[in-house]
Amino acid sequence: MATFVDRVMLHVAAGKGGNGCASVHREKFKPLGGPDGANGGRGGDVVLVVDPDVTSLIEYHYSPHRVAGNGKPGAGDLRQGANGTDVVLPVPSGTVVKSKDGEALADLVGAGTRLVLVKGGPGGLGNAALATTRRKAPGFALLGEPGESGDFVLELKSVADVALIGYPSAGKSSLIAAMSAAKPKIADYPFTTLVPNLGVVTADNHVFTMADVPGLIPGASQGKGLGHEFLRHIERCAVLVHVLDCATLEPGRDPLSDLDVIEAELAAYEEQVQESERRSDERASGERRMDPGTGPGDYGKLSERPRLVALNKTDIPEGRDLAELVRPDLEARGLRVFEVSAVSREGLRELAFALAEIVEKARAARPAEAAGRLVIRPKAVDEAPFTLTFEDEHYVVRGAKPERWVRQTDFSVDEAVGYLADRLNRLGIEQALLELGAHEGDEVVIGDGPDAVIFDWRPTLADEAHYGPRGSDDRLYG
Ligand code: GDP
Ligand code: MG
Repeated sequence: MATFVDRVMLHVAAGKGGNGCASVHREKFKPLGGPDGANGGRGGDVVLVVDPDVTSLIEYHYSPHRVAGNGKPGAGDLRQGANGTDVVLPVPSGTVVKSKDGEALADLVGAGTRLVLVKGGPGGLGNAALATTRRKAPGFALLGEPGESGDFVLELKSVADVALIGYPSAGKSSLIAAMSAAKPKIADYPFTTLVPNLGVVTADNHVFTMADVPGLIPGASQGKGLGHEFLRHIERCAVLVHVLDCATLEPGRDPLSDLDVIEAELAAYEEQVQESERRSDERASGERRMDPGTGPGDYGKLSERPRLVALNKTDIPEGRDLAELVRPDLEARGLRVFEVSAVSREGLRELAFALAEIVEKARAARPAEAAGRLVIRPKAVDEAPFTLTFEDEHYVVRGAKPERWVRQTDFSVDEAVGYLADRLNRLGIEQALLELGAHEGDEVVIGDGPDAVIFDWRPTLADEAHYGPRGSDDRLYG
């Protein structure tokens, strides 16, 4: 099955933090004026921001790799390194962000809603910031940390305010061409089977988008999996327009039965999607749902979505007669009916104004849009500061803090390594190693994968471990 066009894989990398600086202040007659090495700047983030002027994700089809700037290193004389520049990516309202495995992470709705996709690495501390009363002039600084990076899927559900539905050749594309002033970029999408035709319609000072939805033909809903792809086009449309062909010569067709067939097809699609969502809910039971309370789209169930009827091709005399014949029946079903012609343009203005009114009402009734909405799945929190295990002949330490401290350490500087040892020690890692029976010279690994570092353990606590209460050094008695 062809993938839906409004779906892109984005590859992003945040900037690395700048290194801290080790420097000593020098002045005439004051040879050692204290540490004055400043901190590195933080790396830039990659951020998504909802921009109401953006209607598609096409830009990211063409350039899916985005990299933020690195932080600059700190310098002497307390000159802080500059922060790396953020990369801000504008996306349309309604963009859903997923992990590359398809897990929904966020739903970006409403102008200005922001999501930091990947965070820049913090800058390293300079030696001025590392100075304490006990360590007045540290001769080392910390390294800046790498920024986060990752692959994300962006999906846009809303392609239009108004969806035109109907049999092939009813005149959907012709109506869009006749009613719209501009064709936005989405019409250029090259990679899909179900390409909606999109148009921007202006009625006085109202502007809305209208899509013709292809692929809706009798029996289409039986195509397995097509339901999702199809409904994605119309999920967030405020109103559906049935385009009914009043001039078709095909046997067995007339506007009323065409309408019934299309409605049955819609219902079958919705059933198909709900069924598969039920199944995935069952699979995910116990997990937190991403967006409790709302249905599949912002405008609720498809079957309850406002719809009206455009009786098309009334420029043809037989078409006009048929339209007048069926109009009362349609109105009796509670539908608003417009007699139109894409060729003569008759009735198009009235149709545009009626649609604008419904779209405006629907927009106003959507509180989440006005407020801005960002739904994020919470990340699991790392509870213990570290874990220590014995695996394959060595001890393995894992944890956000110790792994972070290792990344900050310049192993070519002894003092920096000593500082790392102090930090690990204060976290209780040495104590834990002793308790697990580690001996001097045992291998200790911190972290996983390519970033892991291996130490030969030289306990600094070992000496203290021999001491009991003050004045009773057990080595004296042992
Ligand atoms: P779609 O499949 O629903 O997008 O239909 P199209 O817009 O491609 O139109 C199918 C055919 O009907 C084309 O040959 C159009 O020229 C014709 N058509 C569409 N609208 C009208 C109309 O209002 N009057 C007449 N006479 N022909 C129309
Ligand atoms: Mg068409």
